[in-house]
Amino acid sequence: MINNNYKNLKDSYLFSDIAKRVASFTSANPDKKVIRMGIGDVTLPLCTSVVNAMKSACDEMSNAATFKGYGPEQGYDFLRNAIVDYYKEQDNVELAADEVFISDGAKSDIGNITDLFSDDVNILIPDPVYPVYVDSNIMLNRNIILADANEENGFLPMPDQSVKADIVYLCSPNNPTGAVYTKEQLKIWVDYAKTNNMIILFDAAYESFIVDKDLPRSIFEIEGAKECAIEFCSFSKTAGFTGTRCGYTVVPKSLVVEGMNLNKMWLRRQTTKFNGVPYIVQKGAYAVFTSEGQKEIRANIDTYRENAKIMAETLTAKGFKFTGGINSPYLWFKCPNNMGSWEFFDFLLNNAAVVGTPGAGFGKNGEGWFRLTAFGSKENTIEAMDRLSKLTL
Ligand code: PLP
Repeated sequence: MINNNYKNLKDSYLFSDIAKRVASFTSANPDKKVIRMGIGDVTLPLCTSVVNAMKSACDEMSNAATFKGYGPEQGYDFLRNAIVDYYKEQDNVELAADEVFISDGAKSDIGNITDLFSDDVNILIPDPVYPVYVDSNIMLNRNIILADANEENGFLPMPDQSVKADIVYLCSPNNPTGAVYTKEQLKIWVDYAKTNNMIILFDAAYESFIVDKDLPRSIFEIEGAKECAIEFCSFSKTAGFTGTRCGYTVVPKSLVVEGMNLNKMWLRRQTTKFNGVPYIVQKGAYAVFTSEGQKEIRANIDTYRENAKIMAETLTAKGFKFTGGINSPYLWFKCPNNMGSWEFFDFLLNNAAVVGTPGAGFGKNGEGWFRLTAFGSKENTIEAMDRLSKLTL
């Protein structure tokens, strides 16, 4: 009766363990100000354009003449078209509006996409990784092959001819490592996927943090990707929608596997199991693409990027090896003196009252590494880095 695969899920104690250790530190040191740089959640509020758009959408909902009931499951055209324009302007990528599916965030779609594939599919997942890729496949007892992401490959694994997989998850800019694939590297993945009939599930949740013009924000900047890739994106980190909930998934119409068109399959899946994102939220997301909205969200992203810069400078001055920080809100560094991830967590908490995330929580290759996020306030970031730089290691 029961899906026994759930027994194979490892309980994630990562954030509850962190919370317990922080609670015991705080009760022993009530006078110390703890600075949290662990959880990847934004702190700046929604920008004015988004809030105003949602308020006026609320007014529309309060009036019988403009009230909206069920909307299209795959999203309103105004938002899908705005996303098409964004891809064209930012990346020179041509999409059709019906290749864009609006969702309540990237996590749901990343979890739900498994519906499109058969039970005997082989899944390649980098380690360390955003845990949703692993757990959503364990729930279905899919065969998971881990690809090592480590210091040697800059936490950017490349195709390995000896490994046969049907699907690969790639996340760039990466959570937790902040590493970003170049166009050349993604071209190798795309060519490999096409030759080996593989599908790339590309998680671009952090694309808006890319500043380096040569780095790809979208897999569809790579020639041939429309025949082998699906892309997930989100307003969460781009525009502070972590609590508001909106994202989108791009499924190209030219993605055809074993005679099945994945765009049509995803449309069928969504229209069957999903009833769309609230009109009010989609209006808010639409405002992100107006010129005022773009200015406002860019200012917020710049605040986080400025934090990341301050953090990168401190880590560099301390002689830490790290990835991320420039094109990503995450900084991922090697724990000093060969400390383990949790050992360094305790050290940093006890000696600097700064909370980060132990890399071991993201997979075996994360052991000995540590993640800090740039999503805090500038004031706290400066203070935390000041404390870190004064540590005797
Ligand atoms: N993908 C990655 C790599 C993430 O780190 C996150 C959230 O932290 C998500 C997807 C989920 O984003 P959303 O808030 O849109 O569900």
